[in-house]
Amino acid sequence: MAKPGLTVAIIGGGIAGLMFALALSKSREDIAIDIYEAGPDFSELGAGLNLWPRVLEIMDSFGLIGELQATAGKPDHEKKMQFRKGDEPGSIIWGESPASIHGIHRGDLLKILVEHTATRCQSHFHKKIVSYEDIPHQPVILNFTDGTTATCDLLVGADGVKSSVRAYMYNQMADKLQSEGRIDDEVENVRKHAKPYWSGNIIYSSKEEARRQMIITYPISQGRFINTACVVVKDDLYGTIYDGPWAVRTTNEEVVKQYNGWDAPAQALVKLAENPMRWVVNIVLDDLPTFACGRVAIIGDAAHSMTTHQAAGAMQAVEDGYVLAALLGRPETSPGTIPLALRAYDEVRRPIAQSFQRLSRQTAQMILLDKMDGVTKETSAASVYSKETLPNKNDLLQELFQWAPKSSVVPDRDRALQIYGTMVRNSNSGFEHRLPLETVLAFSKM
Ligand SMILES: Cc1cc2nc3c(=O)[nH]c(=O)nc-3n(C[C@H](O)[C@H](O)[C@H](O)COP(=O)(O)OP(=O)(O)OC[C@H]3O[C@@H](n4cnc5c(N)ncnc54)[C@H](O)[C@@H]3O)c2cc1C
Repeated sequence: MAKPGLTVAIIGGGIAGLMFALALSKSREDIAIDIYEAGPDFSELGAGLNLWPRVLEIMDSFGLIGELQATAGKPDHEKKMQFRKGDEPGSIIWGESPASIHGIHRGDLLKILVEHTATRCQSHFHKKIVSYEDIPHQPVILNFTDGTTATCDLLVGADGVKSSVRAYMYNQMADKLQSEGRIDDEVENVRKHAKPYWSGNIIYSSKEEARRQMIITYPISQGRFINTACVVVKDDLYGTIYDGPWAVRTTNEEVVKQYNGWDAPAQALVKLAENPMRWVVNIVLDDLPTFACGRVAIIGDAAHSMTTHQAAGAMQAVEDGYVLAALLGRPETSPGTIPLALRAYDEVRRPIAQSFQRLSRQTAQMILLDKMDGVTKETSAASVYSKETLPNKNDLLQELFQWAPKSSVVPDRDRALQIYGTMVRNSNSGFEHRLPLETVLAFSKM
């Protein structure tokens, strides 16, 4: 490539980073893309991933649906997510998602993304970012833990829920407010976004006293494997800090113990789990005031890690990359207009992603038949939810998933492009167009 028109550094090579790299590489030929990954290679923890039609639409737009189907199998349009009450003998199916969902192996998706980005992107491994410098009219400087540096026109943090990019962005904003003499509460309201928080969910846990449990299971890799996630939800611990290890191996016995007394098929399923992992589900709180500042943006779990109950975290990561790449791919985008493109990205993507964060929590309460009709956790057993009344709850479930059949992300992309176009026309220098800290403060107080 001759001198690139734009240089983009992506931090993190998970689904968000690689999908964004792929979308960007298909957008404009003169964009140089560097991926900096902390690990020794691109890899995914865990096996299964459920994809909704919105993701398949995006994969299709990049001509990748055939490859995905070749490994993961064709989506079955009749295959809806089913909800079953199975915590006692005689379980019943009481609800169904309004759209079909496609179970795939994470490794299969990652392999396709890596293959398609390899020729257009430079990948750098063992590169863990710690900080950056974003000074207008100069390249953005990235600082890595090994003491090396790199530069770019745009820095995109796709570095997961523990995101160093998000931490640095929010700590910097808080430091600035502190230096302006703001009161401690205001400063802390901004600084809190640097950290990840515990959702109160543990997957495959057993040591803790269980409050609410569920099992999520679906076939992947054309039915060769069954992906199973046993989830324990402790709602009262939502938003706390989890100090222990986030992902460790546990034993089958520990998992099985959680499901004593459940229906026989549920018990049989958990007994099949080999070398189960115990995952603590950490999240980004859903009131993050911005996904972008200056020439730095965050995407995927770095911006909106959520609980698993809408099966939407990766979907939202993919949508981030799709919309952001469309903005950067515009011919008018230059280093000077990047802050404007990021403002448009934030304006469109943040409310949508945050609505999925909230929906995921509400869905957990729905699936667990919790906090409904004044029912407490002590009384939410079959005596309350009988075989006769349960199917009525399906109506509420349909509302929570009403977005699912509307598969298109194109209107969101077009709205972002329209907002961006207007901003570019009305502004001579994007560099100066930074998000005012007052706006950040206003959101942080909500
Ligand atoms: C049990 C479970 C089930 C799920 N099921 C679904 C589902 O069915 N459907 C769905 O849509 N979503 C699902 N999700 C959510 C989905 O897995 C995540 O939203 C998605 O994988 C996030 O991808 P990411 O690339 O943003 O983050 P990550 O996968 O965390 O990737 C971040 C990358 O950044 C690297 N990195 C981290 N820090 C640094 C640093 N400082 N410098 C450089 N690199 C760094 C990491 O090594 C990693 O490679 C599920 C999540 C869980 C936990």
